Amino acid sequence: MREFVHEAQPMRVVLKPGAAVTATPGEAERLGLRRLLVVSGPRGAHTARTVADALGDSCAGLHTEARMHVPAEVADRAVEAARELGADGCVAVGGGSAIGLGKVIALRTRLPLIAVPSTYSGSEMTPVWGLTEHGAKRTGRDPSVLPRSVVYDPELTLSLPVPLSVTSGLNAVAHAAEALYAPDASPLVALTAEEGARAMTAALPALATAPEDLDARGRALYGAWLCGAALGATTMGLHHKLCHVLGGTFGLPHAETHTVVLPYALAFNAPAAPEAMAALGRALDTDDVPNALRDLARRLGAPRSLAGLGLKEADLPLAATAATAQAYPNPRPLTTEGVLDVLRAAWAGDEPRPAP
Ligand code: NAD
Repeated sequence: MREFVHEAQPMRVVLKPGAAVTATPGEAERLGLRRLLVVSGPRGAHTARTVADALGDSCAGLHTEARMHVPAEVADRAVEAARELGADGCVAVGGGSAIGLGKVIALRTRLPLIAVPSTYSGSEMTPVWGLTEHGAKRTGRDPSVLPRSVVYDPELTLSLPVPLSVTSGLNAVAHAAEALYAPDASPLVALTAEEGARAMTAALPALATAPEDLDARGRALYGAWLCGAALGATTMGLHHKLCHVLGGTFGLPHAETHTVVLPYALAFNAPAAPEAMAALGRALDTDDVPNALRDLARRLGAPRSLAGLGLKEADLPLAATAATAQAYPNPRPLTTEGVLDVLRAAWAGDEPRPAP
């Protein structure tokens, strides 16, 4: 018998082509919201305007200044805009950056949030917020930032360029992979993560070949939903810690870094996480998960090494020290030397091998 604790997240999810425009107004109405601030990044402004137009009189304003990692000054301006407009809720349209801004607005104002994701980052399914101040990113968990409603519209992702679709999709697979060996995973989370990884890894080759294939886009969003739900329910380990350090301290791009690091973090953890590896093996139809993920990324033209992402070899020891400075759950005990080996292999893009 497996003992567990499982807590369901109180949220509603809609997935349907066209839903950004056709379903968002109804979701706002269900929540009783009549003065919504719509937020997005500058590149997503056009899509956000379409959603704002669909909301009609229920839209109080449009704010298109979201930026990666939610800089404090960006958050301050958005919170001010929400207060000035007398908003009673927020709709975040875009990737993890726009949803991250919506979460900080929710955190500071307690306004309910509706998320309309346009990438596969999974942020919309988690109660985790992030804020960057004086060059350092703080994160925290707070139930108030969990979107009340998530509207998945595959049509929004048609414009997501293939390279970003691939790395964003593998970012989602990383959530599922680490959820599978998280100390707080439950049987339901494990099923969710395995199916999420299966759906996403099957959809990515299809949409890389035919980016306009709405069915493949829908299957990828379905995978992103499940992988994000697994992320939201669990505590992440070495892989997410490494990516947090590489993004936060060395400025490496989020989804690309997840794509490069994942096979190496999994090769390190594999000997201590046989059940997680078996589940991922079923999902990817392989008995060598790290190499299957590396091959998938390579076939789809994704970056293959941290060196290729611009990290200097001389920075590896500092990254290893930062990733082991504080304790966090991981199936295999962590040493600075062990983590440095993982980083060295990911830096060079070598074949991932289980560390001794
Ligand atoms: P992003 O939101 O920064 O988007 C990347 C780029 O893609 C941007 O230039 C954006 O304008 C563009 N883009 C997004 N959707 C598009 C579309 N459909 N068509 C064309 N262009 C599009 O990147 P992301 O990877 O989605 O999110 C990364 C951020 O989210 C990071 O700050 C990360 O820390 C955060 N995140 C947080 C959580 C959490 O649980 N809190 C989870 C995952 C990611």
